[in-house]
Amino acid sequence: KALVIAIDGPSGTGKSSVSKAVASRLGVSFLDTGAMYRALAWSCVDAQIDLGDADAVAEHCRTFDLRMGMNPKSPTVAVGERPIDAEIRQDAVTSVVSQVATNLDVRANLKQRQRDLIAQGAEATGGCVAEGRDITTVVAPDAPVRILMTASEEARMARRSKQLKVAVASTRSQIVDRDRADSTVSQFTTAADGVVTIDTSHIDFRQSVAAVLRVVQE
Ligand code: C5P
Repeated sequence: KALVIAIDGPSGTGKSSVSKAVASRLGVSFLDTGAMYRALAWSCVDAQIDLGDADAVAEHCRTFDLRMGMNPKSPTVAVGERPIDAEIRQDAVTSVVSQVATNLDVRANLKQRQRDLIAQGAEATGGCVAEGRDITTVVAPDAPVRILMTASEEARMARRSKQLKVAVASTRSQIVDRDRADSTVSQFTTAADGVVTIDTSHIDFRQSVAAVLRVVQE
């Protein structure tokens, strides 16, 4: 049976980098589902679609040519032939991504794409580490390994501001606002039944990777 590992959690828990490292170590595929929501937000802006027009955003989502590269050593995101790996990390995308992610038609469409990608990735390598906000609960609730990564608000702010090389104060409102918007559609702060919680507040990157690998080996 395929080794599917579902990992959820808010930003600043180390979820993305830890998931990628775990996938590399295990030699399996890696899917960053947040990157898919970011790609849609970028593509809507690029196509000059009004983000307030839910139907137009949903229609664009159904038809845009999203291509995810799932090698954990060099994951890629492209729309058609155009790579957008750097674009989707820009502030202009981060600040609007929740707007497209709270659209329920968008979620239904991306959920199906995510399930297909996880199946393809697992087929190719024997497994897939998929991370996001609703992987353990909605996208892959039957995954043999399901983990929720949490961290104190303080630890999350510190990590995020270090990552973005800006002051803690300026990341606080961005993170808090985004969590609040996201939590209206996904429950990613408390673990669902059968989901193992790993609190990364007081452990570093290597210890977090080891903690996930221990859960996988159980
Ligand atoms: O993880 P990341 O910060 O890249 O996620 C970007 C955004 O994508 C989140 O703020 C959320 O709006 C959305 N998202 C989601 N469901 C997921 C993954 C991400 O709604 N499974």
